[in-house]
Amino acid sequence: MENIDYEDLKKRGFLRQAQEGFFVLRTRMPGGNYKREDLEKLAVIAQKYAKGFVHATVRQGLEIPFIRFENIPEVESEVKKTGILIGASGPRLRTTVACPGNNWCKRGLVNTFSLADRIEKEPGLKCGLDLPHKFKIAISGCPNACTRPQVSEIGMHGQADSLTKAAGYTVYIGGCGGRISKSGIKLEKVYTEDEVMRLVEKVVKFYKDHAKPRQRLGALIDEFGIDNFYKTCSC
Ligand code: SF4
Repeated sequence: MENIDYEDLKKRGFLRQAQEGFFVLRTRMPGGNYKREDLEKLAVIAQKYAKGFVHATVRQGLEIPFIRFENIPEVESEVKKTGILIGASGPRLRTTVACPGNNWCKRGLVNTFSLADRIEKEPGLKCGLDLPHKFKIAISGCPNACTRPQVSEIGMHGQADSLTKAAGYTVYIGGCGGRISKSGIKLEKVYTEDEVMRLVEKVVKFYKDHAKPRQRLGALIDEFGIDNFYKTCSC
């Protein structure tokens, strides 16, 4: 299969599989809450164009494997009609992951879906924003940290402020998973949801403005110097 722009296909949500000629379509849903209608529509597409099953990704999306290259335009058109969002892959801002938080988990301290929704809709952020490398955001509702916020570019978990007892967020910056994993820097204060929003905007902008291609945020902070980073992002 020559002369295929795999990067363009990836941006459109179709990733090359291990099996020659087949692609996996990645969809996304901030917080992972697909409605019944979404599941039915994806099941129909999976049955018509693939092997009839969907796979749940670790970033709370659903993907359909075993789509033939020649069927990509039709699948793309059908998925667009459903209104289901296409997943972000490659060097860009990835879908925000969030556990249920206080929406139904007994341990949840904060409304994780509210924060995830704001991050996804913030005009300056937007999932899929092109960046020098992958950039992940994870939100957990309490210090149990089920979504592993410590190993995302920006991660937060619900936390009761030790003085006021008000629920807010502990924030980690510059972590990453993968072959060489790294824990993010834990910031000192407990942030409100509004403060987290401002911080996320600043850190994403800092990364976009300063990182070299394929440099993760943690490596950029190491190079830039932690004090310079704090000063630039006022955190
Ligand atoms: S991180 Fe806390 S709130 Fe979220 S699922 Fe885990 S235990 Fe529940």
